[in-house]
Amino acid sequence: MILPWGLINNVSISESAGKMKQKIRRKRKKGLMAAIAGGLIILLSGCGAAPPQKQTLVDTAMGTIVSQTLYIQQGEETLDETAAVMQLLAELEQQELSWRIADSEVARINARAQEAISPSLYGILSQIWQVSEDSGGALDVTLGRLSRLWNLDELSVLAENGGSTATEQINIPAKELIQTALADCGWEKVQLSEGTIALPVGMQLDLGAVGKGIACDRIREYLYSQPRITGAVVAVGGSVVTYGQKPDGSSWQVAIMHPREEGAYLGILSLTGENYISTSGDYERYVMADGVRYHHILDPATGHPARSGLCSVTVVCDSGLLADALSTACFVLGPERGLALAEAYGAEALLVEEDGTLHMTEGMKKIFK
Ligand code: AMP
Ligand code: MG
Repeated sequence: MILPWGLINNVSISESAGKMKQKIRRKRKKGLMAAIAGGLIILLSGCGAAPPQKQTLVDTAMGTIVSQTLYIQQGEETLDETAAVMQLLAELEQQELSWRIADSEVARINARAQEAISPSLYGILSQIWQVSEDSGGALDVTLGRLSRLWNLDELSVLAENGGSTATEQINIPAKELIQTALADCGWEKVQLSEGTIALPVGMQLDLGAVGKGIACDRIREYLYSQPRITGAVVAVGGSVVTYGQKPDGSSWQVAIMHPREEGAYLGILSLTGENYISTSGDYERYVMADGVRYHHILDPATGHPARSGLCSVTVVCDSGLLADALSTACFVLGPERGLALAEAYGAEALLVEEDGTLHMTEGMKKIFK
């Protein structure tokens, strides 16, 4: 995984936000529209020392970087709200979503160790099924067999070295193996009802396409429960939640990473209040082999990395889960069908074609600068 966290680190920890903003502007002027993954950078303007005070933290959770900025009204007692957010993310991963952690609910369902499903996971899967249906199966979280066959986790490691040009660094699965894995996928084959779930033999769930968006929803619940927090912007990998307001009343600024030029950004989303933003891109985890980009967003129709003509999709809406689900689905669908899907959900979307052509919903045109 390559993420713009050097930059976010600077914003949140070692550099004043104002300076950081200038630095990014300078880069933009110079035309250093650099590549990077993770999709989004948060640009913050300084709020001075007066309450509410700014609390920041950059850490890792859910296999990605988490960057938090919370504005907190000071009180008698000292609470570490950023630590509480990290704790809830760890619990979400370990107890519910991760297929790698043996005791999580998803791992237990994958191992057929339980047929019961919690109300929470039932609600999540029900929403995902709806997007799967509306996208004609472009989003399918039952493709665990396929994602493991492509060894998507390994792609992230290779991408940290800037991608690879050596064919031997990616094991392109044989056609027959892809067909066999595909036969074990298909959300419509799952028997799901309130309280129980039954996966067909061979099927494995992989909630990688929605986990970080769900994390943003959980963070929102926590923020609601803390009246002292007056504003927040938290990025969990390529998914971001904004909440409340900054002490100076200015809007949240979230930069969208340039999919092809390292260290640069495409533009900035200017947002007020509560929003959920997710970016899916073919530059986040990929390997180049013989001029072909093998990335981590798979097309369930072909079993291969999606070749829809898009290299990046950003979705903004009022749910973290939906923003994340839609960004993946729109990426697979391509510019026209992707835009139509986002519009059908009342979401705002920015879709970037490989040749740089931008497609935007009407609302996105108002917030994207
Ligand atoms: P995202 O970065 O949110 O677009 O999610 C990509 C991740 O979701 C991958 O690393 C896979 O684990 C999983 N994934 C890839 N393609 C799909 C797809 N078409 N539907 C559902 N999950 C997918
Ligand atoms: Mg997604």
